[in-house]
Amino acid sequence: VVEVNRRSVLIGSSFTGALMLTKASRATGPAIIRGLPDFVVVGAGAFGGWAALCLRERGAKVVLVDLYGPGNARASSGDESRLIRASYGAHVAYSELAVRAVRLWLSRQDEMGRGMIYLNGSLRVLSEEKIAAQKPIFDKLGLKYQILTSGEVHQRWPQVSYDDVAQVFYEPQSGIVKARESMIGVAELFRRKGGLVRIGRAQITGGRGRKLESLIVDGAALSGGSFLVACGPWLPKVVPRVMGDKVYTPRVELAYIGSPPDDRRYRWELCPNLTDDDGFTAADLDYGTKVGAKIPEQNGPSIDPDRLERIPTIKHLNAAKAYVEKRLPGLAGQPVVATRICQAEFSNNGHYIIDRHPDYENVLLAGGGSGHGFKMGPVLGEYLADRLALGKVDPILDPLFSLASHGPVGENNTYI
Ligand SMILES: Cc1cc2nc3c(=O)[nH]c(=O)nc-3n(C[C@H](O)[C@H](O)[C@H](O)COP(=O)(O)OP(=O)(O)OC[C@H]3O[C@@H](n4cnc5c(N)ncnc54)[C@H](O)[C@@H]3O)c2cc1C
Repeated sequence: VVEVNRRSVLIGSSFTGALMLTKASRATGPAIIRGLPDFVVVGAGAFGGWAALCLRERGAKVVLVDLYGPGNARASSGDESRLIRASYGAHVAYSELAVRAVRLWLSRQDEMGRGMIYLNGSLRVLSEEKIAAQKPIFDKLGLKYQILTSGEVHQRWPQVSYDDVAQVFYEPQSGIVKARESMIGVAELFRRKGGLVRIGRAQITGGRGRKLESLIVDGAALSGGSFLVACGPWLPKVVPRVMGDKVYTPRVELAYIGSPPDDRRYRWELCPNLTDDDGFTAADLDYGTKVGAKIPEQNGPSIDPDRLERIPTIKHLNAAKAYVEKRLPGLAGQPVVATRICQAEFSNNGHYIIDRHPDYENVLLAGGGSGHGFKMGPVLGEYLADRLALGKVDPILDPLFSLASHGPVGENNTYI
């Protein structure tokens, strides 16, 4: 067992905070289990934040390092909300993960005492083939669904318009998860259970060798027994030799359209989420109806998440308004009340990337959320913690997420 180097943890501006947290955590955290290594987790997003919490809950000593802090504005997990659904076409492994994720979100929100998941259901325009692939998986997993005509949609949700579509797939057990607030909640719970959160920039500077002994955080060494590097769209910057060509980080714009002051029909209690090929909405959770309209510019080059100017474009705002006018015509003319400029972190084939660093047996890399990573946070946390702390092997997921199964990103990327 390699001790997390207390001296290096306490160096710098977080000295007092770290000391206080360590004292407080002795009273509240789970007992540290001898024999488990100490962990340093880099990145407090959906992958790293949940993994740090689950590692701590398994009795490990854990330091979570984030460059800008949990739920920060640049992180892919820093938006207001993300969608959660179990429909994944023929990808049954992800449907199974999503089913467990819903259960975990519900129990975690009870534990944290804050609203994190809103099961308002979703309507998706799917091809006949996709619906045919979906049905047996939903039947097998005991998930409810309905195929609705546009008339049935209109009768049930008069504010929703699918007049141009023959049928829509309705998934009642899907919904919305709060993103930024959840990541703050996860970090708070991690602290309460005895974990240590540090703000700082981690760098892997060691040469190649069997084991990595320490990272450099803001110029000082931070040692640990094992490391999880979960930097989302920063992975190509932090681990360039291994991840430089494995993650595509295009700019993505989102707009939030305000509900009329006396009209509750667009709130999550009364409105499902909508998804088409050219856009999607998430119902109003006090922040407006979120719209992600797809425009060609979103397939632009990879951006640098540190440097991107997050200013919305008129072109996207107009596309968002047009999508909302098509599907939720009562929102026509309503104001944009907030915007978010994010970046995605797509792998070449849409599957997550989770694997050992080829140079170090004690470093695990995790990311490549590919537009569907956030919802799985609680379940990915369990998977990562069991893999790291207990050496658990998953014969289906490990190969699916492996570096070997991912090619370089490029023109032929596929999305799930
Ligand atoms: C527009 C959009 C819509 C999406 N919709 C959905 C959806 O509906 N459902 C869904 O499940 N998923 C969705 N996703 C995907 C999901 O949001 C991401 O896959 C997920 O949030 C990625 O989490 P992460 O932990 O890998 O990365 P991040 O959340 O980006 O976290 C990485 C963290 O690493 C930190 N960091 C970076 N470099 C360093 C360093 N050197 N040292 C220390 N810390 C560092 C950063 O500060 C950051 O906090 C969407 C993504 C986008 C962009």
